[in-house]
Amino acid sequence: MDILVVGSGGREHAIVRKLKESPRTGRLYCAPGNGGISKDAECVQISAMDLDGIVAFAAEKKIDLVFVAPDDPLAAGLVDRLETAGIKAFGPRANAALIEASKVFSKNLMKKYHIPTAAYEVFHDPQKAIAYIDKQGKYPVVVKADGLALGKGVLICTNREEAVHAVQEIMEDKVFGASGDQIVVEEFITGPEVSVLAFTDGKCVKPMVSSKDHKRALDNDKGLNTGGMGTISPNPYYTEETAELCRKTIFEPTIRALQQEGRPFKGCLYFGLMLTADGPRVIEYNARFGDPETQVVLPRLKTDFVDILMAVIEERLEDLQIEWSNEACACVVMASGGYPGHYEKGKLITGLKADGQAEGAVVYHAGTLCEQNSFYTNGGRVLGVTALGDSLEEALSQAYAAVQTIRFEGAHYRTDIGKIK
Ligand code: ATP
Repeated sequence: MDILVVGSGGREHAIVRKLKESPRTGRLYCAPGNGGISKDAECVQISAMDLDGIVAFAAEKKIDLVFVAPDDPLAAGLVDRLETAGIKAFGPRANAALIEASKVFSKNLMKKYHIPTAAYEVFHDPQKAIAYIDKQGKYPVVVKADGLALGKGVLICTNREEAVHAVQEIMEDKVFGASGDQIVVEEFITGPEVSVLAFTDGKCVKPMVSSKDHKRALDNDKGLNTGGMGTISPNPYYTEETAELCRKTIFEPTIRALQQEGRPFKGCLYFGLMLTADGPRVIEYNARFGDPETQVVLPRLKTDFVDILMAVIEERLEDLQIEWSNEACACVVMASGGYPGHYEKGKLITGLKADGQAEGAVVYHAGTLCEQNSFYTNGGRVLGVTALGDSLEEALSQAYAAVQTIRFEGAHYRTDIGKIK
């Protein structure tokens, strides 16, 4: 089968490399891809948001399967467009991708179907939001822009001044544009966070192995929030009992809820969970594979990836047995100096082989380009250095050993990935 992956980050590189393992994969393309991906797939210079361009390319090349990885083209209806053109696509339609694209939609869905989540109210009017925050008088309080905001639309406010500022920034200054037309004001909850990705064909849901993200830029969870500085799988907090509880109270009810709303979700649904003293709660849904969670989950997948994708698309996931390796996996992100703030691009990366890989680890390229067989930095998150091991310690030590062999000016990474608090 000829396959096109849409996207350009470390997640897409992990997807491409997994697809390459399948004997069913024929020609493999990535739009637009990056320097490292170009060693594993043919990169085509079409942006992920150029919906016309993607559909035209897939039709011209008679692509058998398009894998839409990022949130924006899913929310914009790329899967709908491909289906209309008679092209098979992995990912939810826009009406189901709304579960990520609108926090107001997802919170209201959870309320309606009794899916456990933090208590909240929705506001269209900043003055009413502030009056509610005053009435509650409880800090921290969480203020969330309704729409997509590149992972920056959630503000945890420790006092009234911060909360008022957050409401004004989102609703009046419109720092996230129309994403801030409505906000969710949410109760602050505490507990370990767990990411669970799940395959679903709209009727049946099969959770993948769990993972843990490290969102802050600096060690000890200091510094600004980032797209993710590293991940481990499995998540040590996610016991079998918790998994069973999540299946019954969160995963299956969510899939049923979407089906009942006439928005069946086909693809990968990401559950961002918090394990509170009162049980697991949903913090957020994503309508796609997470980045960098995918980088530690897919290496543990033993079942043919293409078989799973086709079972999702053809709605026969129920009959498929999905197997996972018992190994642990760790991914350490090497970022550009200054990220997530201002950073420079174009720094030469040394220590990578001609295929973009390193000794003892798999290197998923996130922001690189390749010119005359040399790799250069081309984004905030540059590389995800990833290793499997019999234990988490072993996976981490392998990944960190490989990190030591890779260099570029200003390179920054956390030294405490996998250290659980
Ligand atoms: P992403 O980049 O993962 O898509 P996002 O902008 O959709 O992020 P959320 O995942 O909803 O944002 O929230 C980001 C982080 O904020 C969470 O991982 C969690 O640590 C924290 N958070 C969100 N909601 C709450 C809450 N109600 N109580 C405590 N912490 C919260």
